[in-house]
Amino acid sequence: MSSESEPVRFDPKDVLTFLKIDRQQAAKKILTDRQIKFTEIYEKVGDENLQQQAGRCLDCGNPYCEWKCPLHNYIPNWLELSANDRFEDAATLMHQTNPLPEICGRVCPQDRLCEQACTLNTGFGAVTIGAIEKSIADRSLENGWRPDLSAIPETGKRVAIIGAGPAGLGCAELLCRNGVKAVVFDQYPQIGGLLTFGIPGFKLEKEIIQKRRDFLEDIGVEFKLNTHVGSDVSFEDLEEKYDAVFLGMGTYNSVEGELAGRDNQGVIKALDYLIGNINQQQSYAMKNYPYYDLQHKRVIVLGGGDTAMDCVRSAIRQQAETVRCVYRRTEIDMPGSRQEVQNAREEGVEFVFNLQPTAILSENGKVSGVEFNSTESTTGEPGKTVFLQADAVIIAFGFKASPADWFQSNNISTLDNGLVQTRPSTQPHLPYSQQTNISGVFAGGDMVRGADLVVTAIAEGREAAREILDYLQV
Ligand SMILES: Cc1cc2nc3c(=O)[nH]c(=O)nc-3n(C[C@H](O)[C@H](O)[C@H](O)COP(=O)(O)OP(=O)(O)OC[C@H]3O[C@@H](n4cnc5c(N)ncnc54)[C@H](O)[C@@H]3O)c2cc1C
Ligand code: SF4
Repeated sequence: MSSESEPVRFDPKDVLTFLKIDRQQAAKKILTDRQIKFTEIYEKVGDENLQQQAGRCLDCGNPYCEWKCPLHNYIPNWLELSANDRFEDAATLMHQTNPLPEICGRVCPQDRLCEQACTLNTGFGAVTIGAIEKSIADRSLENGWRPDLSAIPETGKRVAIIGAGPAGLGCAELLCRNGVKAVVFDQYPQIGGLLTFGIPGFKLEKEIIQKRRDFLEDIGVEFKLNTHVGSDVSFEDLEEKYDAVFLGMGTYNSVEGELAGRDNQGVIKALDYLIGNINQQQSYAMKNYPYYDLQHKRVIVLGGGDTAMDCVRSAIRQQAETVRCVYRRTEIDMPGSRQEVQNAREEGVEFVFNLQPTAILSENGKVSGVEFNSTESTTGEPGKTVFLQADAVIIAFGFKASPADWFQSNNISTLDNGLVQTRPSTQPHLPYSQQTNISGVFAGGDMVRGADLVVTAIAEGREAAREILDYLQV
């Protein structure tokens, strides 16, 4: 392995690079800055480091990373191009399977996806796939790179897309690349869905979304923002005026459990808290999302997924007095990215495991703490009651389906849990298609699969685009 005294000479053709150069993640910014700023926590990776890290790839004959990535990105191929200083070619190849590589590179849980599957993740340290994807895509956007779509004939077809989240954007981009006009409607003032109105700036700075919006508009995607389908424009209208419709509207009903005391002052739903913060930082005028200032408060966040991590880390940055994340099971059962848990810990979040909340306690209508039942079996005291004091409690138990009221009047089928029902797939590797029960109406992302990941929403949006192209016979 490399040592600091002997700098390693890098040769992109050397298949043993992984033995000579260690896995090296992008450096993190200093902790005291991270604890107060909502800007991204990783430093930029220099060109030389980028090439060396990409050069660690073994170019396996059967690339497990590629299979594990829901978009089946051509990972070893763009790593090889990057190792050989061919960054623009790498960006071009990246965009063939992923319309938002700079975003996936930032927010995908690589430790559960591509990097987990990397052959080198067996003691040598996986290739830093996510960081390389992010850096290459960032460079291409900064340099104003655009794909050459001049040879693609216009089909004259138009598709309405409801929702500018990852699913909608994934669908719109692929349609555009095939000469189909995509018009994306969203109720919010900016594109991105939860990328903008959910995920905080320390994971994904909002300027990144604007750069991607510029890119998408340049290749022909049209956005109609601040437009709620149902009140500003009707679904029936879109169905009539467009050749097909894609629904990518996400899942927005928060799971609250039946916790007693959840109506007390100081109990906040996770997404309301995060959006309130983003509104305040970006000066959007979204009246339904007030700003919650948690400075000097003792904060408890209930839950253990990505949303909970975003809340605890936001509360730290707001200078809360203490921030505790309380999860009902053990640390290894936590559903979110391990890396985010580590980042939260470094920033000062305290984790408490094996506590199931039973009631939110209050004094004069204001939160004073939470009562829990211990689920710990190793102490021999399961069922023991535990109290923790708090001035604010954020509920981050996840999300369930939020079907629009016009689904019923338009006979759009949903499952018992409210998720949109799609038809079985004719392709053996896919469990279902993105075609709803209504001909010409497709759906994908969280509203079909339940709250999941950015990359799986993009994958479903792209699959829907392929099915729409078949349907339109273009
Ligand atoms: C706080 C938080 C953090 C997360 N962190 C991560 C992470 O780190 N990594 C990861 O991979 N995933 C993460 N996720 C999950 C990820 O963000 C979602 O799985 C993904 O955004 C789903 O994409 P989507 O396009 O299906 O829906 P969304 O992103 O929810 O987008 C749906 C869009 O539809 C619009 N819409 C809905 N109804 C209407 C209507 N009637 N008219 C007009 N517009 C409408 C909404 O305004 C929204 O913009 C996180 C989720 C949350 C809540
Ligand atoms: S899209 Fe996500 S899973 Fe796929 S290669 Fe990129 S970071 Fe890995």
